[in-house]
Amino acid sequence: MDSTEFRKRGMEMVEYICTYLETLNERRVTPSVEPGYLRHLLPSEAPQEPEDWDQIMSDVEDKIMPGVTHWQHPRFHAYFPAGNSFPSILGDMLGDGIGCIGFSWAASPACTELETIVLDWLGKAIGLPDHFLALKEGSTGGGVIQTSASECVLVTMLAARAQALKRLKAQHPFVEEGHLLCKLMAYCSKEAHSCVEKAAMICFVKLRILEPDENASLRGQTIYEAMEEDELQGLVPFFVSTTLGTTGSCAFDNLPEIGKQLQKFPGVWLHVDAAYAGNSFICPELKPLLKGIEYADSFNTNPNKWLLTNFDCSTLWVRDRIRLTSALVVDPLYLKHGYSDAAIDYRHWGVPLSRRFRSLKLWFVLRSYGISGLQHYIRHHIKLAKRFEELVLKDKRFEICNQVKLGLVCFRLKGSDKLNEKLLSIINESGKLHMVPASVNDRYIIRFCAVAQNATAEDIDYAWDIIVDFSNELLEKEQHDELSDIINRKKQDTLAQKRSFFVRMVSDPKIYNPAINKAGTPKLSMELPSPVVSRGNAPIIRTQSSVDHNSWISWPLAFLFNSGNNEDKGNNVSLRFRHLDTNVRHSSSRRNSGAGSSPSPENELELGNVQQEQKSPRRSPMVMRKASSTRDNPN
Ligand code: PLP
Repeated sequence: MDSTEFRKRGMEMVEYICTYLETLNERRVTPSVEPGYLRHLLPSEAPQEPEDWDQIMSDVEDKIMPGVTHWQHPRFHAYFPAGNSFPSILGDMLGDGIGCIGFSWAASPACTELETIVLDWLGKAIGLPDHFLALKEGSTGGGVIQTSASECVLVTMLAARAQALKRLKAQHPFVEEGHLLCKLMAYCSKEAHSCVEKAAMICFVKLRILEPDENASLRGQTIYEAMEEDELQGLVPFFVSTTLGTTGSCAFDNLPEIGKQLQKFPGVWLHVDAAYAGNSFICPELKPLLKGIEYADSFNTNPNKWLLTNFDCSTLWVRDRIRLTSALVVDPLYLKHGYSDAAIDYRHWGVPLSRRFRSLKLWFVLRSYGISGLQHYIRHHIKLAKRFEELVLKDKRFEICNQVKLGLVCFRLKGSDKLNEKLLSIINESGKLHMVPASVNDRYIIRFCAVAQNATAEDIDYAWDIIVDFSNELLEKEQHDELSDIINRKKQDTLAQKRSFFVRMVSDPKIYNPAINKAGTPKLSMELPSPVVSRGNAPIIRTQSSVDHNSWISWPLAFLFNSGNNEDKGNNVSLRFRHLDTNVRHSSSRRNSGAGSSPSPENELELGNVQQEQKSPRRSPMVMRKASSTRDNPN
């Protein structure tokens, strides 16, 4: 394709995109295809000879589009918004056209400098403290664009881990880093996104997952008690990931409380994940939701969720850029340049070396809309969510299940989880509306998010009408005792079942597959002993507390160490993996083997004040979970 043809095809593509977006509501919101559908439509090998452009585009409409879930569709109310706008698309197009790879300042100075400037702009608009801004006099911090919120959590955890290991190594210079590593403990709420658990797996550290309060908010006292108790066991708290705007119900951890408590644990890194909600803080009236940010070491939000910016654009700010980069710097000679000391090289701020010119699209968005335009957009979505909430509240058959602060409404039919599951399933199968479920306070709820950029009040009313229609139908059938008939039919209808599963595409199994919450652990039928503590080489299992424990530990890669010996129940420590719903048993004989394969926190090293007989003075709700908790019971 030469530039003459590119001009022509480019205009056609713009036309195609405009028509696509303008006529989206004529399409099903979710596709009606089975896995593998595309394989049957496309050849198994790439074409040997060039193909005609028109033919390629006609395949887009005939073969690709039937398998697309339309995230910009006015009836799409699932997940969080997928940011999209014309200025952003054009910014990305220009970035692709320039095609630079900005891993260092020298690799493309504008690519680096625009990123720094735009991150300062956005950081200021959000209301981040000055120490997060790179260009503020005397600041040690700064911002960077990452691919995803998951990556933001990962790199901050890597940085925190490096800091903690450095500290421990200074205290115990003759102890190997691997032994120090097994003492580290990270913390988050049960409502945190599963990316925190994934980051802990990658960092090979333990993660204590804590129970939030009845508003799905993690509290300072809970985290304090967990950390204090872990320290008594000789473990080393090093990282806390909090969430402002959880994925399930847009709940807010109590950052001021947590921040204050963390002051008692100097050196512990406090991260704030505000992937969705963080964008809304550009509105002055929503800034109170950011309270406590002064305690944080890092903060991330995704403009590619709720700031009209296309994926990928996840913005991360750190209080101390040296603490971030020192965990990630590798400096081969061929990447050094004359200004290495004077300029930012963003390759040290994340995992990949190569980096796209992503700041361009954010720059286009910020300039095209202005902060006022973006505030208007955020407020409009909140207004739509409030309208939906009002509609739900007017119908006494339904209840609201979250505090509606932003664009997400969680609701359910008063009745069983099964009933709500059924309702969501028939709505999604219809292709008329798309929503996903979550589990809030161990109940199955339906999430309704204001998503489409130009959604209107009529769209919200229309969505509610669809929900009411399906609910009427369902409840009527229920009344006539026909529900079991529907369920049987559904069981036989495997295709429909597959479709319904398909449209729930999982990014967080806990959120989007609540069956995990309800039915997962009980299969494990385990009675969790209390955490293992150490004394010399002998693993010690603490006796079971009489108090219910509501948190559990995610143990790095423990499933790889599964002995598979389910008979050996007496001395096993069982762990539950939220993401895999996997039970892992560590037999004490294996731990005793000294083979180095056990990920348990005991072994030779004693860093803390650990004693065999020691029992925690308080039995707070944060030690390992017992199988008897409600989340562990099938129903
Ligand atoms: N954190 C929160 C609070 C989220 O809501 C999500 C996704 O919805 C993520 C992290 C993961 O985002 P990403 O897909 O950018 O990794």
